[in-house]
Amino acid sequence: MADKFDLVVIGAGPGGYEAAIEGVQKGMKVALVEKRELGGTCLNRGCIPTKTILHTAELYHELQSGPSIGLTAREPVVDMEMVQKRKDEVLEQLRKGIASLMKTNKISVYCGTGTILDREHVKVASAEEKSGEKAEEKAEEKAEEKAEGKAGGNSEEQSGGQKQDQVVLETSHILIATGSVPACPPIPGSSLPGVVTSDGLLDKKDMFEHLIIIGGGVIGMEFASVYSSLGHGVTVIEALDRILPTMDKEIAQNLKMIMKKRNVDIHTGAKVEEILQTEDGAGLICRYVEKDKPCEARADGILIAAGRRAYTGGLITDESSQEVKDMAMERGRIVTDEKYETSVPGIYAVGDVTGGIQLAHAATAQGRSAVAHMAGEDMVIRTDIVPSCVYTNPEIGCVGISADEAKARGMEAVTKKYIMSANGKSILSQQERGFIKVVADSGSHRILGAQMMCARATDMISQFAVAMANELTLEDMAKVIFPHPTFSEGILEAVR
Ligand SMILES: Cc1cc2nc3c(=O)[nH]c(=O)nc-3n(C[C@H](O)[C@H](O)[C@H](O)COP(=O)(O)OP(=O)(O)OC[C@H]3O[C@@H](n4cnc5c(N)ncnc54)[C@H](O)[C@@H]3O)c2cc1C
Repeated sequence: MADKFDLVVIGAGPGGYEAAIEGVQKGMKVALVEKRELGGTCLNRGCIPTKTILHTAELYHELQSGPSIGLTAREPVVDMEMVQKRKDEVLEQLRKGIASLMKTNKISVYCGTGTILDREHVKVASAEEKSGEKAEEKAEEKAEEKAEGKAGGNSEEQSGGQKQDQVVLETSHILIATGSVPACPPIPGSSLPGVVTSDGLLDKKDMFEHLIIIGGGVIGMEFASVYSSLGHGVTVIEALDRILPTMDKEIAQNLKMIMKKRNVDIHTGAKVEEILQTEDGAGLICRYVEKDKPCEARADGILIAAGRRAYTGGLITDESSQEVKDMAMERGRIVTDEKYETSVPGIYAVGDVTGGIQLAHAATAQGRSAVAHMAGEDMVIRTDIVPSCVYTNPEIGCVGISADEAKARGMEAVTKKYIMSANGKSILSQQERGFIKVVADSGSHRILGAQMMCARATDMISQFAVAMANELTLEDMAKVIFPHPTFSEGILEAVR
């Protein structure tokens, strides 16, 4: 029997590891259980690897217009092996950072699968207890081996921690932050070689010549941006009537136009029926129906980007108490109340495993809030105001409601819009495509939401989130001096 903890967190993604730190800051003794790598999907298979590759792709794309701004360089060449190597280095550096945070905060990190036995006990199978210090040593060893070019091995083999088949942790609170995995709709042929999810595409050492993307949501469109920026062929097939179906209609229409100019072939209202191998076995055929017409597209690779499903593998098993087995779930997602507590008192759940907004910063905010509730404090984070971003070119950032949503809710709202083609910084950096829209209550002028599609939109959208959390009006924002020349001056112009 291991030590008794105040909090055992299962899953070391952005929901879990940040909650673990929050627990320590609230005076709790905390254990963190992770069966793969520290950082979860976000760091290892999501936000960070995609944006690292996207960074190279965008620089490559920008260099194409070098001569028009007086910059002539030799023809740039993409070295995919080097792109992957750098991506791995970035991930390693950030994993090391998390391990170091665990050490500083004296969080006991257990490597293994966490199973909830009852309200007060979590079993860790193939458990390897690594104090924060050991977790950091392991991350350092891994970084050194990478630098020496050694093949990466099994994480447990590399650890200096004590190995045990299993250990049972006793605790007063449990936080489930087990995340999500790619959802794979039952499309015949989806297990053929060359058909991948985002996990597979991120690890691929080279690129497909032509990529078909099934799903025009955020993940699908970010990969479309990478592939098209690097000059590869892309076909997007989306079942709904537009790409980015959860975002502002004008943003979706604009992105479609921009992508089309980059030779991305986009089909909306198109339902994929099956995937086949070409006659010579060298390629893939994707058959779909678009406006009742049977169509097909050919490529050497297919990405299935049809959403993600909550992951609870190994979390609740035959060994779990009846109360835990009966935990309320809805279509595989764990149901919680507004304090992130599940139907089992003392067991909380946050992040992707609860469905809802599947974003890293939402998981983190929920994790911190859940811990505050465990400590009997009021929630201080506005978890209802979640900015969402798409890292295409131009970038997209949205928060709150759009004009269409305001109308659908019967709200009286005004919309202010500024076109970035008049913004100095946008013109000088050749990024004048785009706009900023602000939606405000028509009576009080209180800001209800904003939609931005322009350079640095993903960094600038937080200004509107701050305004919303503090119930600022258009006039309050217009009181502020914005530096010149910046993209952010577009915000001032929009609210004035
Ligand atoms: C390609 C891609 C790009 C993305 N880009 C962005 C982006 O730009 N911005 C953004 O905000 N979000 C992005 N996301 C979404 C983001 O990654 C997730 O919303 C976020 O990681 C969810 O955090 P989480 O803590 O809930 O779970 P996760 O990050 O999924 O972490 C869960 C962890 O729990 C572990 N685990 C599961 N079960 C057990 C168990 N029983 N015992 C022990 N450990 C367990 C898993 O191994 C995993 O490490 C992206 C996702 C993908 C796939």
